[in-house]
Amino acid sequence: MVDKQIKDFSIERIRGQFPIFKEKVCGQPLAYLDSGATSQKPKTVTQRISNYYGFENANVHRGAYYLSEVATKNYEDVRNKVSKFINAPGADQVIFTKGTTDSINIVAHAWAESQLKNGDTVAVSRVEHHSNFVPWQSLAKKNGWNFKIIEVDTNGRLDLSTLEKELEGVSLFAMTQMSNALGTIYPIQEIVDICSRNRIVSVIDCAQSVPHFELNLEDISGVDFISFSAHKVCGPTGVGVLWGKRDRLEEMQPFIFGGDMISDVGDIDTTWNQLPWRFEAGTPNIAGVIGFGAALDFLESFDRMQAKAHERNLGLKALDSLLGVEGLKLVGPTDYVDRGPVFSFILKGVHSFDLATFLDRSGICVRAGHHCAQPLLKKLDLDSTCRASFAFYNNAEDLDRLVSGLNEARRYFLK
Ligand code: PMP
Repeated sequence: MVDKQIKDFSIERIRGQFPIFKEKVCGQPLAYLDSGATSQKPKTVTQRISNYYGFENANVHRGAYYLSEVATKNYEDVRNKVSKFINAPGADQVIFTKGTTDSINIVAHAWAESQLKNGDTVAVSRVEHHSNFVPWQSLAKKNGWNFKIIEVDTNGRLDLSTLEKELEGVSLFAMTQMSNALGTIYPIQEIVDICSRNRIVSVIDCAQSVPHFELNLEDISGVDFISFSAHKVCGPTGVGVLWGKRDRLEEMQPFIFGGDMISDVGDIDTTWNQLPWRFEAGTPNIAGVIGFGAALDFLESFDRMQAKAHERNLGLKALDSLLGVEGLKLVGPTDYVDRGPVFSFILKGVHSFDLATFLDRSGICVRAGHHCAQPLLKKLDLDSTCRASFAFYNNAEDLDRLVSGLNEARRYFLK
């Protein structure tokens, strides 16, 4: 059982709850610096999933028997938890999906394809993850919409003073709250205000921001859609959230049809279930959703302000230390203003894949590649970077090991 009492944040105690940090991986203690890709999982999450399969397994919304009722209650309770987690007005606007990618695709197919017409314009920012870029680009081609890219500077910053003009005539703007490639954070309320003033539907990708700061819908008032993934906040993979304004959700036309999403099926016509089940056709990822609930309980079991302060201190030190590594060029903001602890960099003379492989030999996990942000990297004239991304469960030793690893890599490759 999760202790509901909120405890002071202690990095040792927190790390103690992640089995992976106690083990050696490939003979090395782990310095996991790829939480931007996915977070590690505390044992309460894995145990909760195992418990569901071991002792509670039944389908939801179907059976009039005890086990199915328990599974349904546990599944639906997580919807309430998510609703509280994002301070949403009601749980029926929380739709469980497979993840951020799935959530955005649902908006693109179920809302945009039914509401936009030939000649309308959809816009995305240059920094978008492919999951918030490709659906819009592809469906624009298919439906005859114009597809517009809003440019950013080399630190990934949007020019707010020109954004309103840039968005003139746009019907939908899809934008991330935090860049997964550069760590840049965006003033989402201002962006949503511009959208609201101009009747532009806003689709905000919170996949990267939710792990680092509180997602409070009251702070993004007027937003039409938001999405995020459970696996980036200590939950399992294959589960995500789509939250939408009630009017927008009512406008969406289901595009995945099957069990659970119907109200009545006749020979000629079918009517749809209520929100949110209308958009959850078929057997959902019950174990995943229940595990996600355990992740939210875990996040609420310690003082998140203290955790954030710890993460910020580590981020500040990381920025300082990385800037001090000879030959290292940070790609993205070089100050700690409106940025999170996600650092993309290039080490002069060493290819990012070689660097990541070299670091891996010492148990240091960083990501190398285009970070699913090719339109941005191409614009920056890069094909790849290394990315170290920190979470609240990282410690100073992880950072020290990264910095030593980078210095060793220089000696090894550039001797
Ligand atoms: N948007 C951003 C900003 C991301 O960082 C990611 C994951 N890297 C996604 C969307 C896609 O999330 P998922 O793979 O969980 O669908």
